This record gives sequence, C-alpha cells and structure tokens, in this order.
Amino acid sequence: MIKHTYIHIPFCHSICSYCSFCKILYNHKYVKLYLEALKNELNHIYQGEIQETIYIGGGTPSVLDVNELEQLFKILSKLKKDTFTEYTIECNFSSLNLEKLLLFKKYGINRLSFGIESISDKNLKLLEREEQKNQIVELIKLARKLGFNNINLDLMYAIPKETMSNLDEDLEFIMNLNPEHISTYSCMIEPNTKLYLNKVKAIDEDLDFKMYQKICNKLKKKYIHYEISNFAKEQYQSKHNLGYWKNEEYYGFGVSASSYRNNSRYTNTKSITKYIKGEYDYYHELLDKSDKMSYEMILGLRLLEGVSKKNFFNKFQQDIKDSFDIDSLLEKKLLNESKTHYYINEKDLYISNSILVEFIKE
Ligand code: SF4
Repeated sequence: MIKHTYIHIPFCHSICSYCSFCKILYNHKYVKLYLEALKNELNHIYQGEIQETIYIGGGTPSVLDVNELEQLFKILSKLKKDTFTEYTIECNFSSLNLEKLLLFKKYGINRLSFGIESISDKNLKLLEREEQKNQIVELIKLARKLGFNNINLDLMYAIPKETMSNLDEDLEFIMNLNPEHISTYSCMIEPNTKLYLNKVKAIDEDLDFKMYQKICNKLKKKYIHYEISNFAKEQYQSKHNLGYWKNEEYYGFGVSASSYRNNSRYTNTKSITKYIKGEYDYYHELLDKSDKMSYEMILGLRLLEGVSKKNFFNKFQQDIKDSFDIDSLLEKKLLNESKTHYYINEKDLYISNSILVEFIKE
C-alpha cells in the first residue's frame, strides 16, 4: 500500500546559480496549464490509499498566487489523509505572506520547509538568492503565531569561497530560529548550472569535510543527527523522507517527479511542454528482488540507525547476511552490527558513498 506522495511544482521567481532541479520562471499562463495536467495525472494514477505524508516541493511552490495555491490544494484534496498525515510545503520567504499561510492552515498543511541556504551577503550574491534576514525572522514568528510547529530550514555549506566564519554565522542564525528540523547540503557544481558555465571552482574537499564536521558537532548539541545530512528534534524526523530511506513505495506527481510503485521506479518527463500535453512517463525500471534488496541497503544505510535485520527478513524472506558479503565490510570496520541493525559508523558517514557502492548490483 502506498503511503507517501510527492508533488513537484517547478515555478520560481528567479533562478539560482547552482540550481540543477527541474524549474522554470513563474508564468501565470503556464501555471494554469500545469495544474490541469497535474490534476489529470493524479486522477489517472492515485488508487485512493490514505497518505501518511504529502510533500509539495519544487521549484518554489509558494510563488503560486493565492488563487493558484487554492486550486492546487483542491486538486490535492483527492488524496486521502488522516489526522496524523504530515503535510509539507516548500516555501521561500520573499513569496510568502499572511494570506498564503492562512490558506495553508485551511488546507491542513502542518509542516513548512524553507530554503534559507545562507545569510552571508557574499554567499547569497554568488548563489543569486535574495532572502533577507529580517524578513526571515518576521515570517517565522508569524508562522509560529498561526500554529505552525513543525518547520524545516535548509542550510547550504561548502559554497565556493565560503569561510568557516561564514558558516558559523549561518549556523548561529539558523539555530536561533529554533526550527524543529534542519537539512544541510554541500554546494555541488552541477553541469548546466550558472556556476558550472561560469567555471566557478568548488571548495577544497578537506574544507568541505571540516565544514560537515562542524555542522554535525554544533547541531548535535540540540538535535538528533538521524540521517547523513539531516537533524531533527525528538519526534520531528521527516516522515516523508524516512519513507524514501526505508525504501517504501511512494507516488510522485508533476514534471520530473519520480515514483516507486508496483515494484517499479518511474521518473516523469523533465519537459514541461510534454508534461502539459499529458506525456508523463519518461523512464521506467522494473525491479526484481535483488534490485529491491540493494535499494533497501543503499537507502537505509543513510540513516544513523541503519537497516533493520527484522524488516529486511520480513520483506525478502532471507537474511541480510545471506544476501550480501556483509562479513568483509564488518571485518574492514566499514559496517557495524547491533542486535537489530547494520549501520555505518557516524564518523564514516561522510564517506558513505564509498561503502554504499558495495551494495550496488553488478
Ligand atoms: S534552488 Fe530552488 S529557488 Fe533556486 S532556482 Fe532552484 S528550485 Fe528555484
């Protein structure tokens, strides 16, 4: 049974220099056509299961105007929810206001996710983002007043030319806002981004690692470090993302969205023009048992608690030990074992990719 839904809203007011997500500039005419296509896709695919989590991401969903947002929520009201459903929307501060927050309340949104990334003028200029400190503080206060008690803030680090003291300032600012959840990202220079085309050099790898260590050390004083780059207060781990990491099935609607359903992984077209015409499916991979076991390990080992032996057995009717060469990883101390789980040591999480490749099917 599918319990999670992701919705992609690709519109943004401006394009950040590092962005490799599927996005386009906000355009009223396109939004109208896009929402129509989204409605059709959802009506065609959704099977009526109660959703434990719904996540509206992008792009910047909050750039839609109030009428468009209301239309979006009406389309999404087809998704069955209950009182425990975690219902998240990604926002930026410059597009958010009281009217939109009230609308979020009306339609049951109970988690807000903001991309702050950095407050340093130097970083923001390079990233071509324009959030303002005062605006952030005021909007968070307003959201709290309206009863939003589950807020995520994104922090980016290892931004080209960033210094440790820039990072200190960002961390202090974000921690003072006292969010329930913090997601961190290292700035990657991806092909086809402005940073890449301008030949901007990535930060030195050692400094990237030192920044990651600093973030972990600081945030762990107040938050639970529960996934490589994610931190939460007790009970505020992202249920939606936990669904991905626990290798559960999910719907994904919208341009470029991926889904995992009926033993298959799908990725929708990245072309908005095609999507609007109803040509949704771009890539489809049917998974066999060994593919699913690989995903279970690769995704689950991102979590500090690791992969549950019992869940693995219940899903695949065989032990992890009989499925992978666990002993050699244990011997090399790349993996650890408790009574219930296999997990990667916290100190090795930064290099986890080199461990996870051991679980990729040949
Ligand atoms: S990073 Fe976010 S806000 Fe910036 S262009 Fe990409 S999707 Fe839009």
